[in-house]
Amino acid sequence: MTERVARLAAWLADARAAVVFTGAGVSTESGIPDFRSPGGVWDRFDASAMTWPNFIGSVEGRRRYWELGHVTYPVIRAARPNAAHRAVAELHRLGRLHACITQNIDDLHQRAGLPPERVIELHGNAARTRCLGCGAGFTRDEVHAWLDAGAGVPACPGCGGIVKPHTVLFGEAMPPLAMARAERAAREADLLVVVGSSLVVYPAAYIPRHAREAGARLAIVNLTPTPLDGCADLVIRGKAGDVLPAVLAKVRAWATR
Ligand code: NAD
Repeated sequence: MTERVARLAAWLADARAAVVFTGAGVSTESGIPDFRSPGGVWDRFDASAMTWPNFIGSVEGRRRYWELGHVTYPVIRAARPNAAHRAVAELHRLGRLHACITQNIDDLHQRAGLPPERVIELHGNAARTRCLGCGAGFTRDEVHAWLDAGAGVPACPGCGGIVKPHTVLFGEAMPPLAMARAERAAREADLLVVVGSSLVVYPAAYIPRHAREAGARLAIVNLTPTPLDGCADLVIRGKAGDVLPAVLAKVRAWATR
């Protein structure tokens, strides 16, 4: 493990355009469950409540979505960045990180101090919502105040339209601008580091493949095996909150030589 940590640090110290690609595993140590680990979201909730067809298809579908959101969003809101998020932000401060592409919706990279323009959110951000009718934006806190006051299905106060979270639901189209930015960052990267992702959710999981195909080194930091381990240049099996601070300490040592 120590040798692998040192190798990743040396690559980061040398990289011209390093990109980190994160998934739910980077935030489990902040208390937000991932989807696929034991005890994760799949074990505890009915995923059909989070699909686009169910949300858009009926008032009952939206009621089920917001019932679930009423329980899950407060966990995200209360979470704080962990050592892995802080290490990613510090890599940027040291000039060692070009961009962070994230599948997460929890805002924790930004809250750890990574400038928002460096974070590419492939699946949106849970803290924001928008009216599908008139486009008005509302914070998730505003919407939860309506839920707390008894609204089963929030409606836009201006036009009565459907209020939708900024997150990408299962079966919903990906945000084209974020996808285009992510693909470009991946193709321009000379090092892509996956952190805490099962790499089974598509199209997001194409991003590390694009980077690899364009010639970047691919490193994977994850607790469990992924389908891309076989074509990665380096795999570190460990907790993001242990591995990334150890990598950062080595990068600092290289930077001050
Ligand atoms: P996933 O649940 O499919 O996989 C998470 C991976 O992280 C697993 O392989 C697991 O072994 C690993 N992992 C868990 N804890 C770890 C740790 N401490 N250190 C290193 N690895 C760890 O997550 P995914 O690949 O991101 O895909 C699931 C989808 O779920 C994403 O699209 C994402 O939008 C969404 N999601 C987001 C959040 C969040 O915003 N925090 C939480 C749950 C799900």
